[in-house]
Amino acid sequence: MLKFYWNLMNSLMTERDGDELKHSAVVFSPHPDDETLGCGGTIIQKINAGANVCVVFMTDGCRSHPHLISEEQLKSVRKTEALAATQILGVERNNVHFLEFKDKELWQNQKTVTDKVIDILLYYKPKEVFIPYHKEIPSDHWATNRIILQALQKYREKITVYEYPIWFWNQWPWVPTSFGLRLKTIRILKNTVLSNVHFLSDFRFSVATYTVLESKRAALHEYKSQMTRLIPDQKWITLPDVSRGKFLNCFFQPHEIFRGYCLYG
Ligand SMILES: [Zn+2]
Repeated sequence: MLKFYWNLMNSLMTERDGDELKHSAVVFSPHPDDETLGCGGTIIQKINAGANVCVVFMTDGCRSHPHLISEEQLKSVRKTEALAATQILGVERNNVHFLEFKDKELWQNQKTVTDKVIDILLYYKPKEVFIPYHKEIPSDHWATNRIILQALQKYREKITVYEYPIWFWNQWPWVPTSFGLRLKTIRILKNTVLSNVHFLSDFRFSVATYTVLESKRAALHEYKSQMTRLIPDQKWITLPDVSRGKFLNCFFQPHEIFRGYCLYG
């Protein structure tokens, strides 16, 4: 069934390649690691094609493991990890920016964040922006989506937006669900199927990343606080723990996929 979905999805997609890869881009990442998970391969391919790519980290990620490590310590760890990961992706240090809003506080600071984003857009004048998928559930993910779209509305220059999925992958059929045959689970199944039908019609663009998966994997492994337990405590959840690794596998398919659209063209 999973293979069926992957094949169906690929058959509906248009691959971005050639000249499109050369377009300058700003990648907005809600937390340090989302840029590598959602578009790490695309960043590498674009830089290889000669594009100027900038990565903006919206929050400091200091609350991914509350009660297990201090916020100050985790903030510092995640910044170091983000610099190492983006270096492997090929992003120049000058093109990496940390807005340093606290985890889960993006939306309440939306006015200040929007102003900072507009400054970045005016400075880089990118042809493309990469932002989280608009149906992402974590608050910093949807807040990043809404805030960048608000900023683009004020910026008002022609631009292509690519939305990348992260937590959207953590649902059936991409990860298994232990379904019984009770009515309740049948209802969940129906809703999931419906949401995936939308998903298939939303994501129409892809970038072939199979030639750079090892570099993407190396970049992700720099996020040791997310990929391993910094302390030996089972409560420290890692990305490989999520859906027993099936979630993480979704980011190492031959293509990265995007919902794309033009604004003010
Ligand atoms: Zn995130």
